[in-house]
Amino acid sequence: MLRSLYFKIVLILLIFIVAVMAAVGAILLSGVTSFFMDDFAAQMTDCFSAESFLYRDLCDAAKGPNYAYDMKNVLSSYRNILGIDEYRNYYVLNLDGEMLYGSDTELGESLQLTPNLLSAISGSETNLRGGMDYADWAVRIPVEDSEDCVVYIKDSLDEMRQLNSVLFSIILQALLIGVLIAVLLSFFLAKSISSPLQSLTYDTQLVASGEFSHDIEVDSADEIGVLAENFNYMKERLRSTLDEVNGERQKLDTVLSGMRDAVVAFMADGTVLHSNRSAEELFGDELRENRLTLESCLEKLDLPLGPGEGGLSLTIPDGGEITRDGYIFHDRIAEGHVYDVGYAPLRLSPEEKQELGCVFIIHDVTGRYELDKSRREFVANVSHELNTPLTAIKGATETVRADPGMDPDMRDYFLDMVLSESDRMHRIVSDLLTLSRLDNNRTKWDIETFDMRAFVRHICEIMRPEIEAHRHRVTFGSDRSLPPITADRQRIEQVVINILSNSIKYTPDGGQIDIVLTHREKKTVVLVIRDNGVGIPEEDVEHLFERFYRVEKSRTQDAGGTGLGLAIARELVEAHGGTITIKSKLGEGTTVRIELPVECRLKTDKDRNDPLK
Ligand code: ADP
Repeated sequence: MLRSLYFKIVLILLIFIVAVMAAVGAILLSGVTSFFMDDFAAQMTDCFSAESFLYRDLCDAAKGPNYAYDMKNVLSSYRNILGIDEYRNYYVLNLDGEMLYGSDTELGESLQLTPNLLSAISGSETNLRGGMDYADWAVRIPVEDSEDCVVYIKDSLDEMRQLNSVLFSIILQALLIGVLIAVLLSFFLAKSISSPLQSLTYDTQLVASGEFSHDIEVDSADEIGVLAENFNYMKERLRSTLDEVNGERQKLDTVLSGMRDAVVAFMADGTVLHSNRSAEELFGDELRENRLTLESCLEKLDLPLGPGEGGLSLTIPDGGEITRDGYIFHDRIAEGHVYDVGYAPLRLSPEEKQELGCVFIIHDVTGRYELDKSRREFVANVSHELNTPLTAIKGATETVRADPGMDPDMRDYFLDMVLSESDRMHRIVSDLLTLSRLDNNRTKWDIETFDMRAFVRHICEIMRPEIEAHRHRVTFGSDRSLPPITADRQRIEQVVINILSNSIKYTPDGGQIDIVLTHREKKTVVLVIRDNGVGIPEEDVEHLFERFYRVEKSRTQDAGGTGLGLAIARELVEAHGGTITIKSKLGEGTTVRIELPVECRLKTDKDRNDPLK
């Protein structure tokens, strides 16, 4: 209340009124006093000048024997001119200051010896102004044959004081009326000033709370009107700026949410400022529930960034690749994925040192990483697989050449070795070409319809020498109502021969191999080849279809395998729209199950990564 505009205006007006009235009163009162005194002095000077009638009459009266009495009579006759009344009196005094006669004998008995009276008694002409509470005038009159006497006029100033008190009460009344008018005026004035200010204040609060729809009504053209107009203009600018900012933010949000890269920005205090949908997928509930911090993000992405000296700034150790805006850290592994993580500090301008926060752009490179890895492994495998027979061929050739007189049996042994290693190389290259053609959709398919039972029997016939060499027992059973299938017979034969020869190879001599042919609702044909061979360790089973994967290199090398057979088998079966699965137990045996659709639709548009490219 005491700070309100209304109170201040009232107070100022009151102080103003009181000050004006006090000044006017003081001037008036002192004006009245000095006017009265000046008027008294001028009147007395006139009356008692040497040329005045009064002075001459007094001097004439002073010549007689009853000079004091005569002088009193002269003064009495001049009472109007002298202004004698109840406040002003005349006296005739001797030089001792004692009253001889006077208009008020009672007052005359107790006359004080004022400076004027004393100077008149002493013969001096000084007529000083009276004191604060009286005005007086004394004139020495020469008396013949006797002591001079003094004519003394004294005014008690009571009349002037009465006038002053009347004036004072008038001023007081005027002051009261003035105060009343000031209060009323200040009320209206304060209202006219404060009500637009109040509505301005209300509007600023609305704007602060984000409400821009309400405009201040501008009624006046004064400073407050201009202020209100400016405020409305400022509000419009603010609204359009905010709209622009929101629009930009919306665009940014749309771009960010459409990005496959995870983007997460942190403020200087380490809390999340912004993130996109991919970031939510990466950080999960931790981000959704606002629990993600800069520290936990760094930990999760295994980033070698440490808190710097001044607040957020992170210290970048060696390993980060410098980019235009910050750094990029390659191949960070988190949750089984591989990421390239871009880090950029957020600053108001590039020159600014102070960091407001930082942003991470997390690019999932798992696919590329895996592809690179498998390419590297593939090249290493191919080199290794070709190097082994080449070394043997080179060694055998050099030995034969070094000894022209070599024993013919010995030479045949080395030449056989060259032949068999060349065959092995040929098989590897031929398998690689098959895979390459499959990868590039360049395999030429020769589709025909055939009976699977006769087909399997035919393969058993082809493999008979091998089966008999290992003294394996082979059984074959099949559904009677097996439908014929339409497929590339040659390729399926390649698959079945590979599976069967694996069973023959990896089963100790005299083993048992069972072949079963069934169908599922005449839509697919299922071929199961089961052996009771060496089996495969559990941890190797899932890798069997990888190129060049072998369970135990030593045992399979002896068996003459390339490690590409099952990879080719899966590619061929899947190209026909079928599936191939392996179940195995170490020491107990292996079961391979191939399921092919009766009507094979061969894939022609395979979408796969090509490790050979
Ligand atoms: P390879 O030409 O070397 O036989 P495959 O791709 O056909 O290559 O087989 C991959 C590996 O799987 C083999 O090296 C072998 O260790 C294992 N394997 C395949 N079939 C069997 C089986 N029936 N019994 C045991 N091990 C097998």
